[in-house]
Amino acid sequence: MDTLKTRCLIIGSGPAGYTSAIYASRANLHPLVVEGYQPGGQLTITTEVENFPGYPEGITGTEIMEDFRKQAIRFGADIREGFVKEVDFTKRPFVAVTDQDQTIEADAIIISTGASARYLGLPDEEKYRGLGVSACATCDGFFYRKKKVAVVGGGDTACEEALYLSNIAAEVYLIVRKPFLRASKVMQKRVMEKENIKVLFSTETEGLYGEGQVEGAHLVEFRGDDRERHYDLPLDGFFLAIGHTPNTEVFRNAIECDEQGYIKTKGATTATNIEGVFAAGDVADPIYRQAITAAGMGCKAALDVERFLTEQG
Ligand code: NDP
Repeated sequence: MDTLKTRCLIIGSGPAGYTSAIYASRANLHPLVVEGYQPGGQLTITTEVENFPGYPEGITGTEIMEDFRKQAIRFGADIREGFVKEVDFTKRPFVAVTDQDQTIEADAIIISTGASARYLGLPDEEKYRGLGVSACATCDGFFYRKKKVAVVGGGDTACEEALYLSNIAAEVYLIVRKPFLRASKVMQKRVMEKENIKVLFSTETEGLYGEGQVEGAHLVEFRGDDRERHYDLPLDGFFLAIGHTPNTEVFRNAIECDEQGYIKTKGATTATNIEGVFAAGDVADPIYRQAITAAGMGCKAALDVERFLTEQG
């Protein structure tokens, strides 16, 4: 097994990871980045990115992440394929073991492994991914101007996504499996008052249909009681908003996470409960989850690492 040593190990390669790599490289920390299973992160599975400042004409998710990566390499970041499968944060240098049979010893670590949107688990979600199925209204909503869309979920994210889409699409259906919304009262009120949002309570999705792209959903209302009703709802877009899962399985026993598994950071910094380990991006952010906010946190994490290493001499 190879052993590599670095002053700064960055685990994960979305906007947060690459931004911290750019800043850490420019600070002469020679960071080593382990990219993870999905180099470039969640943006690489969206289509067009139109809300990242600096791209007035928009850019594809894959292209923007390739630009982030090139910029990090330009300043000397050492970017490696692989997935960190084990960590030891109990002593310094910290240790990370990858699935490429490498042991990495690091004086400081930035965790930027992101989060993954949850899906219902229907085979049709896979079939129509990028063809009408999306887990990000802010990313893809624009393509549904004056069309019919549905959002699945009853939490704050689902309500927020439905409200966002209601200003773009002609009609928005909120598909809620329970007879009530879980979202905060204020969000519920906004949704209920919006004329072009229709909430379908006690409703579940059984599948999607369409020739080459989503044309509708097979729904069931009141499953399991004598009112059970199966019907098809014509749609152009189908958005999932049933929560995200932070990619922290590897770190759960090594670092303090909240009850949903997001890494806890201290105040306005990216410091975790382990001195010398920092967290940036969606892995530590259950609220904003935007590429630009993740990039901002990546910058903060690199500055926090630089300060930490200077203090350590
Ligand atoms: P939540 O876990 O709060 O809600 C998930 C929703 O998805 C629930 O309605 C849940 O239904 C539903 N759901 C889960 N699995 C399925 C399934 N298999 N089929 C159908 N429906 C399903 O997640 P959110 O992402 O909405 O919010 C996460 C956290 O972030 C919350 O604490 C929220 O308050 C916060 N947040 C705050 C915002 C704000 O303040 N502006 C904005 C966005 C998020 P059920 O209720 O039946 O379990």
